[in-house]
Amino acid sequence: MNKEVVRKVLVEKGLKVTPQRLVVINTLNEIQNHPTAEKIIEYIKKNHPNIAVGTIYRTLETFVENGIIKKVKTEKDVMRYDVVTDHHHHLYCNECDYIENYFDDELDQLLMDYFKSKKLPEFNIREINLQIVGSYNPHKQKQG
Ligand SMILES: [Zn+2]
Repeated sequence: MNKEVVRKVLVEKGLKVTPQRLVVINTLNEIQNHPTAEKIIEYIKKNHPNIAVGTIYRTLETFVENGIIKKVKTEKDVMRYDVVTDHHHHLYCNECDYIENYFDDELDQLLMDYFKSKKLPEFNIREINLQIVGSYNPHKQKQG
């Protein structure tokens, strides 16, 4: 997302364009790869020490509520944030905590068809997000 797009996204969601919100969203775009709140705070504090931690947390929550970003939960119960809101799955490495986005339209179709045929009573499926757990071989030491 470039700066213009970022502004547009905020305006479209009816959110006021504040310097703090711009910093948080730009940071999310820069760090990529599903950062934790701590990582986001650490990154922001380096360049903008005047932004309060509480503001950063609140801003993240606001973005989640407005569908600008998504929360991702890992096996370790640590909340991570995802700027990619297009439907995708995650390949999660439980050795190094790296999360890779996994896009697969064929799989999406297969899953939807499968559950359509199962006819779950009293449950409407909105979306199916898989977290595929494993480790990279050879194991990559990536920061994610
Ligand atoms: Zn993702």
